[in-house]
Amino acid sequence: MIIAIDGPAASGKSTVSKEIAKRLGYEYLDTGAMYRTVTWQAIQNKVDFSNEAALSVLARNVRISFKENCEDGKLKVRTYLDGINVTEEIRLPKVSNYVSLVAKVPGVRKALVETQRKLAVGKDVVVEGRDIGTCVFSDAKVKIFLNASGKERARRRCLELKNKGHEVSISSLEREIISRDTKDSTRKNSPLLKASDAHVIDTTQKSIEEVVEEILKIIEDKKIDE
Ligand code: C5P
Repeated sequence: MIIAIDGPAASGKSTVSKEIAKRLGYEYLDTGAMYRTVTWQAIQNKVDFSNEAALSVLARNVRISFKENCEDGKLKVRTYLDGINVTEEIRLPKVSNYVSLVAKVPGVRKALVETQRKLAVGKDVVVEGRDIGTCVFSDAKVKIFLNASGKERARRRCLELKNKGHEVSISSLEREIISRDTKDSTRKNSPLLKASDAHVIDTTQKSIEEVVEEILKIIEDKKIDE
């Protein structure tokens, strides 16, 4: 069973998806981390972001892997590029600022979507991203579209970065988030879009636990229906 969780930047997808995967004993796939890893590699290799052919080659050859473990009752996922842990690097602002440019390249999407489908084949997986319900797994049994106000998303991201020792102003984060959403929603190739059969959850006023409970109920109802 595939559970597709899409939504804009910092809408709570990762926290909620990991918690659902943990509670159901499903695997977890963070497709955003894959686009971020290709972007990180492009920065390292000094690839010009307008060179679509070079970015596509990078995405076809990239060797991304994930390792999961439970720490303090929470699912932790580390991302590796060629066996090197890049979990922290791929969250750096310079990656966030360029990732949408990489993610809009058709050759990059084709390569990563193929990998995503292979990684999930025959498994129970919670998959999070932007185009999971509309493209990667358009036949997913459960589709969720998470959203929250720009201000709330910036506040959450600010807190997350602060906990990691980075000081960034809420207003600059809000600008970055809105600019990334605009690029992701307006690109030609599988833009960020709510699937017509997705359940929309606005998380602005909700706790993580409330959102998790709501999604688990949707999954349960779906299982009963079948
Ligand atoms: O989820 P996260 O914010 O880490 O995703 C980073 C970026 O990767 C997004 O802003 C988007 O440009 C791209 N992305 C995508 N399709 C996905 C997942 C992420 O285009 N399925």
